[in-house]
Amino acid sequence: MTTTWIRNPLGVFTADDAPDAPDARGGLVVTDGVITELVAAGGRPATAPDETVDASEHVVTPGLINTHHHFYQTLTRAWAPVTDAPLFGWLQRLYPVWARLTPRDLELATSVALTELLLSGCTTAADHHYVYPSGLEEAVDVQVDVVRRLGVRATLTRGSMSLGPDDGGLPPQSVVQDADVIAADCRRVVERYHERGAGAQVQVALAPCSPFSVTTEGMREAAELAEELDVRLHTHLAETIDEEEFCRERFGMRTVDYLESVGWLTDRTWLAHGVHFDDGEVARLGAAGTGVAHCPTSNMRLASGTARGVELEDAGVALGLGVDGSASNDGSNLALEARQALYLQRLRYGAQLPVTRALGWATRGSARALGRDDVGVLAVGKQADLVMWRLDEARFSGAHDPVAALLLCGADRADRVMVGGEWRVRDGEVVGLDVPALLVEHREAARRLVAG
Ligand SMILES: [Zn+2]
Repeated sequence: MTTTWIRNPLGVFTADDAPDAPDARGGLVVTDGVITELVAAGGRPATAPDETVDASEHVVTPGLINTHHHFYQTLTRAWAPVTDAPLFGWLQRLYPVWARLTPRDLELATSVALTELLLSGCTTAADHHYVYPSGLEEAVDVQVDVVRRLGVRATLTRGSMSLGPDDGGLPPQSVVQDADVIAADCRRVVERYHERGAGAQVQVALAPCSPFSVTTEGMREAAELAEELDVRLHTHLAETIDEEEFCRERFGMRTVDYLESVGWLTDRTWLAHGVHFDDGEVARLGAAGTGVAHCPTSNMRLASGTARGVELEDAGVALGLGVDGSASNDGSNLALEARQALYLQRLRYGAQLPVTRALGWATRGSARALGRDDVGVLAVGKQADLVMWRLDEARFSGAHDPVAALLLCGADRADRVMVGGEWRVRDGEVVGLDVPALLVEHREAARRLVAG
């Protein structure tokens, strides 16, 4: 049993919103991967630690948590044909490219996305993989291997598309699958990989892609299967006005009515985007305890709209943040996404919106959206997932409040990242990974993929 004292940080944000949240200005103690003590200003740990990490030049936060992404899209970033397209046109141009994905492509893309995320302070990431061309049947298996190798936590979702053009859907027939194939694989990957309880490294959720790419029956079956297997549900919803019109024309109802009609309006579900909700829908989602992954950069990039983040959270929604797919952001930097969320929500709600509220979305809120209560907060008994940020670059010089400086001055790179008590980033580098070699292979795979 080794105890480590992260000692006397320059600043600390615990994300604990309890009125009696303890003082952690003296740092925190980690024992066997779990936080065992918070130390008050000027204090020392109750028992002498085995080792001490001097944090006097660092701001300490919980590990950031990403609630929506498509790792495979790192291979199609900033691709000229879609740099200026709105969602539906963007998708239709990209589907045939993505239909050529191989297991090796997905492995490289997952490695690159998780590297970017780790370096931006992310310790738990959700990925929504819904492209299953022939040959890529074991996509989740490929991703589990990478997650374990890098030592991060992940909620990997078994995505799916079942509504092809023959049935009025958007994606081409080559990437849609039959309902029974999808259901069998969902069951297989949950039974094989889903870990339960505190400290889980890999979790699996079920994630039909969106109302315009999945059949109604497919949505309903996913909800039933998730209930039976006791796992979470994820999908894209209310991202654009095009989607709202699609739902009105095809189903004769708005997106949230459709969600409810297929058994998804529950606290088992978290939704990507959630931009276009009316007052009644905000209240219904909140009452149900549904989660929303707010993806501000993607929503601005595709001009989809501004999510009603503050109202959703105030209504009871578990509001988290997502960098979203790397072809609609096109980066995977979660620290910068928290800054983006702060600013976009301030445009809507005013400059009095606290910096710490946006940090709360990136940590505690995201954990709740993923159905986890063991991460996202620095408190006794929680997993030791934390980030140490340095403020010694020119952009921070002259900053006074170290915690506010993270977002206001644009912190984008973690100095140290700990997941479950293990350092996964040290001195701004991913431990045990040859990043330059990875990027050479990834760039080559990206070139091959778009060349066809
Ligand atoms: Zn997405």
